[in-house]
Amino acid sequence: MSEKMGRLVLYSGCSGVGKGTILKELMKRDDSIRLSVSDTTRAPRPGEVDGVDYNFVSKEQFEKVIAENGYLEYAKYCDNYYGTPIDQVNDMLTQGYNVVLEIEVQGGLQIMENFPNILSIFVLPPSLEVLGERLRGRGTEDEAAIKKRLREAEHEMKYKDRYKHVVVNDKLEDAIEEIQGIIANER
Ligand code: 5GP
Repeated sequence: MSEKMGRLVLYSGCSGVGKGTILKELMKRDDSIRLSVSDTTRAPRPGEVDGVDYNFVSKEQFEKVIAENGYLEYAKYCDNYYGTPIDQVNDMLTQGYNVVLEIEVQGGLQIMENFPNILSIFVLPPSLEVLGERLRGRGTEDEAAIKKRLREAEHEMKYKDRYKHVVVNDKLEDAIEEIQGIIANER
């Protein structure tokens, strides 16, 4: 990559909204974009790979890194910890990559406080009903967990206006192109 420092991009949106799918496609189209791989104490979902989707760690390991100030931000979401390891983000930025932080809003607000000019994007579902259908269609959570995520989604949507850009993921291709345009324009 280039000698120039990369940019940090804050990327949030409700669980199940398709953030991950959009981001995977963006990374295929633009090799300057890298995802920061978070640590989490949640159990892996079928198909998720340790070190790729997340670093799956124990609560004890996570709390040790908190104590060492090793996270750029972290939050508890639906009873599990999620955090962004500082070293990894710094390494990628110094190598010139644009680093996307795909994180929920509590962590997003911490990042905005520390980096007030950060490029921030919030992805919205067309409606909560559609989000519920998508979460159920994914089949990775039971009904109680889905209800909890929907409540969380409703809460998170209240923070959307704190983000510079709000994108509705109705048609996947449109959302991908819109976000690609936002990141390209910012460079
Ligand atoms: P999931 O369990 O569906 O993979 O993630 C739940 C939520 O945690 C999503 O909104 C996801 O973006 C967020 N998340 C993932 N990694 C991090 C992180 O490092 N920090 C914070 N604050 N949230 C994260």
